[in-house]
Amino acid sequence: MSGGRTLHFACSCGELAGRLVDVDARDGTHIVCHCNDCRANLVALGHTDPGAEGVELFQTTPDKIKIDQGGENLALLRLSPKGLMRWYAKCCSTPLFNTTSRRGMAFTGVSAEIIKNHEAELGPVIARGFIKTPSGKVTHEGLRPMLTSMMGRMGKSWIKGTWRDTPFFDETGTPVREARVLTREERAAAFMGLSQT
Ligand SMILES: [Zn+2]
Ligand SMILES: [Zn+2]
Repeated sequence: MSGGRTLHFACSCGELAGRLVDVDARDGTHIVCHCNDCRANLVALGHTDPGAEGVELFQTTPDKIKIDQGGENLALLRLSPKGLMRWYAKCCSTPLFNTTSRRGMAFTGVSAEIIKNHEAELGPVIARGFIKTPSGKVTHEGLRPMLTSMMGRMGKSWIKGTWRDTPFFDETGTPVREARVLTREERAAAFMGLSQT
């Protein structure tokens, strides 16, 4: 099936570029994640902590992602040995995608910033995760529709077999890059770099 939109993406220096293909309304969810891990990932890659703004993501499935050029710059970082896989462009340290460590879990969060005209293309943010309230509690907005969409996409991907189509894992389910896992010291430094929001 085809007919959905094509969204172009690139790292900030432009070496690594590609497309999200055949994206229709159900193929993605525009969210903001406020969790410390997403923020620490940016700090670990040498960027400033986005603080209360959080990290804007477009959740979709890996089969939608086609890397057309500069694929040799794709690199993999994990904040801890079992943390999410955080894919970035090593040419310019641009955070690109996050996935779980299992090929069969057809889930990818795409950094919204890398998508051309993302403000116009992705539409409104429908969910916010891990928002810290002034009282110190953590809350979420729009969590149920976000999870429903994510589970729906993963289920559809199982039924159709499209989970096999991924730029992140080989046929045996091994990630296409060796992960660099932060040392305890590096991890502590990344989290200490977060502002208290
Ligand atoms: Zn780059
Ligand atoms: Zn997060």
